[in-house]
Amino acid sequence: MNAQKTYEIRTHGCQMNVHDSERLAGLLETAGYLDLDAIPAADRPAVADVVVFNTCAVRENADNKLYGNLGQLRPAKLRNPDLQIAVGGCMAQKDRDLIVAKAPWVDVVFGTHNMGSLPVLLERARHNRSAQVEIRESLETFPSTLPTRRESAYAGWVSISVGCNNTCTYCIVPSLRGKEEDRPPQDVLAEVTALAEQGVIEITLLGQNVNTYGVQFGDRRAFGKLLQACGSVPGLERIRFTSPHPAAFTDDVIAAMADTSAVTPSLHMPLQSGSDRVLAAMRRSYRSKRFLDILARVRAAIPNAAITTDLIVGFPGETEQDFMGTLEVVEAARFASAFTFQYSIRRGTPAATMPDQVPKQVVQERFERLIALQDGISWAENRACEGKTVEVLVAPGEGRKDGVTARMSGRARDHRLVHFALPPGLAPPDRPRPGDCVEVAVTYGAPHHLVADSALADDPSYRLRRTRAGDAWQRTQAHPVPGRPLVSLGLPRMGPRADG
Ligand code: SF4
Repeated sequence: MNAQKTYEIRTHGCQMNVHDSERLAGLLETAGYLDLDAIPAADRPAVADVVVFNTCAVRENADNKLYGNLGQLRPAKLRNPDLQIAVGGCMAQKDRDLIVAKAPWVDVVFGTHNMGSLPVLLERARHNRSAQVEIRESLETFPSTLPTRRESAYAGWVSISVGCNNTCTYCIVPSLRGKEEDRPPQDVLAEVTALAEQGVIEITLLGQNVNTYGVQFGDRRAFGKLLQACGSVPGLERIRFTSPHPAAFTDDVIAAMADTSAVTPSLHMPLQSGSDRVLAAMRRSYRSKRFLDILARVRAAIPNAAITTDLIVGFPGETEQDFMGTLEVVEAARFASAFTFQYSIRRGTPAATMPDQVPKQVVQERFERLIALQDGISWAENRACEGKTVEVLVAPGEGRKDGVTARMSGRARDHRLVHFALPPGLAPPDRPRPGDCVEVAVTYGAPHHLVADSALADDPSYRLRRTRAGDAWQRTQAHPVPGRPLVSLGLPRMGPRADG
């Protein structure tokens, strides 16, 4: 048995939450807790001493899911009163005391603005033997200054802002995460530099609305400047960001993307709807023409840019004609891929009480038509990559079938998923390590990924480049940190526990 108390974090929702969970892990480890996953499977208890739910209020049924999950833990709490259960994130910010009222076996409820208080609240709940609910209305400490247990050795997420000043009518973020708070550029750069020094070669700048970065300190061009400044950090090879808002997308950002060689030729920019009427009802202040104009300017400056988007189908009041507008814009935009969501009511948002909610079967039918259209476009765009040489940043576990197909997987610079073959008979020490880069030619464009079997061709093409990130991965394998699971590589993904 291990004397150290163990913790487990169950993450729901978006990348912000996954990144926040890295901070919660860092905080708990600094406070002396041990990651449950670090214990060999044979000795691992079924439940950790502290179970933290990092919740999301955006997804459908978030309430039911949270209370269902809390209910499942109740028998464990009855068996072991020392087990502590904490609930943080957006649902905590929204429901506050209601969580303890509905699930009195919860020990701690903390909000999105005071993550740093978690260890103290756990201690206080243990000492006082009573639930501690602490929600702050404004940010206590910028989350990035909290200790972080990073999930990846070669890629890191770096928050540049939290909160959002927009008021999209379907979104709960403004009421739960507050107004936009920008992190000073020198702090962002210090974190990026520190990551690069540790061997990280890819960073993703994170914010609800990255291109309004600077609004707080009065510099409208701050995001473009930040991209350029990150581009001069030695060792960084790939700079990505998510998500920009079309209304605030300016040409200086396009210029910074094009002129900064480390910024990858990819852009994820949410369209949400192609109908101007629906965009107005969503309170998204751009129109479809502006959106398409931005894409044209991005493609003029970065011809090989892979552009992806988010789309919502069935927003209240969406007519067949509005939906046809979305299909037309999607057709014109030629997205490499799209995250497509069916609108569903989120309590607490203005859209939840709008008239003319679209019946479920209509939403489903439109959703299927949209998916069919986008799948066809994604496939055609991927087929257009056939014959091209791509640089793949090798990842572990991106390809679920890699074992069967004897391929490895990773991401091209434009973030397309690539499964590639290795030269036949390659000795194990000559294989690419996660974090290394290979150059291969695309032999097949599938609807949702590329296959690059050029190493097997009569005239093989395959080139391996060992990187500092590969070295960093090797170090983590050779010298694991006691009490932590081996560091995975690649951007932290929604693991098996993430179900948001
Ligand atoms: S831009 Fe709109 S959708 Fe995005 S976080 Fe802000 S309010 Fe929500």
